[in-house]
Amino acid sequence: MANDSIKIGVIGGGQLARMMVPPAIHLGLRISVLAEAAGMSAARAADAVGDYRDPETVYAFAETVDVITFDHEHVPGEILRELEARGKQVHPRPDALQFAQDKILMREKLEELGVPVPAWAKVADEAALQNFIDAHGGRAVVKTARGGYDGKGVRVVSEAAEVRDWFTALAEDARGGFLLVEELVDFVRELSQLVARRPSGEIRTWPVVETIQRDGVCAEVLAPAPVQHASTLDEAAEIGLKVAEGTGVTGVLAVEMFETRDGRVLVNELAMRPHNSGHFSIEGSVTSQFENHIRAVADLPLGDTSMTRPAAVMVNVLGGPSEGTMLARYQQALAEHPAAKVHSYDKQSRPGRKVGHVTVTGADLETVRAAAVAAAAVFE
Ligand code: ADP
Repeated sequence: MANDSIKIGVIGGGQLARMMVPPAIHLGLRISVLAEAAGMSAARAADAVGDYRDPETVYAFAETVDVITFDHEHVPGEILRELEARGKQVHPRPDALQFAQDKILMREKLEELGVPVPAWAKVADEAALQNFIDAHGGRAVVKTARGGYDGKGVRVVSEAAEVRDWFTALAEDARGGFLLVEELVDFVRELSQLVARRPSGEIRTWPVVETIQRDGVCAEVLAPAPVQHASTLDEAAEIGLKVAEGTGVTGVLAVEMFETRDGRVLVNELAMRPHNSGHFSIEGSVTSQFENHIRAVADLPLGDTSMTRPAAVMVNVLGGPSEGTMLARYQQALAEHPAAKVHSYDKQSRPGRKVGHVTVTGADLETVRAAAVAAAAVFE
């Protein structure tokens, strides 16, 4: 088929790249992965190994494919701009991706788009930070602009000195820079809107989901999000579309939001790649986030994003038990929970590390949630 002329290169070797492999194969596309090390999750399913911070490594990898996309947001923008200058397709494009790479640029862009965000400021020193904290009730959330994930790079503080190490690191960085500080939002729950957008502008959205975090890490996703205030989910969906169009993202975008006690929605964070809040879509949607990401970056028509059943719940499996016992746990989970879809990322188990997930779909959210939690509990 004509499809086999398109070869997709994914930079980053984690589970997101790994989960892009099956839909690429089903679509008749070729896919390869530039993983950081041979033992990484996606490297076990696909090929090349190298450092994404090294320009020559990335340029050489790009030579072997038609379009570049990502498993994470950490590839330096300069390298991606050079790839574009050399005529390579990069999705999302670096001009869009920057808003997911740098939380200060992201806040500035969201304000420009008129999207509601928590009160925030960029601060260069402890005095400026303390002023913000004092003006916002004595506590605030401080974030490093770049490089954070799963709550690393996020601290709730009441004294500016609690992030002295981050200011020291900034002072030693030749590029200098700022920390982001935000009001501590009194939210009742967190929501996420996933959007897929093609270079042509074609857009599809999945239902807004509720995400439940524990210790700064996503623990569960409920799809669709239970309705609490009728207008909130519509507003979240509108925000998702506005951000996708306003940033010009190509591929999958996740817009993470807080729902406040009075039913308002504030955007917390953007991710421009498939996202943990969309793993439910592998079984829960006609077209998964991984498939639509692949379709979008290959500039193919997007698939239907409606749910296959009324409800889907995903529960993450975090590392804990030693490698030796993991296989026994999988065998037990598969044996005892045949209705659950148990995913393993083939990763070394370390405490707190995402090593797999479980999804259950069905007619009723509460029943499905109990089943997914029970299956994931086998790994505790
Ligand atoms: P990361 O990029 O590491 O995922 P986030 O910015 O998404 O970091 O923050 C991680 C978690 O910290 C959020 O899911 C939320 O639970 C909490 N958090 C972040 N910002 C705020 C805020 N302004 N107010 C209250 N909680 C916050």
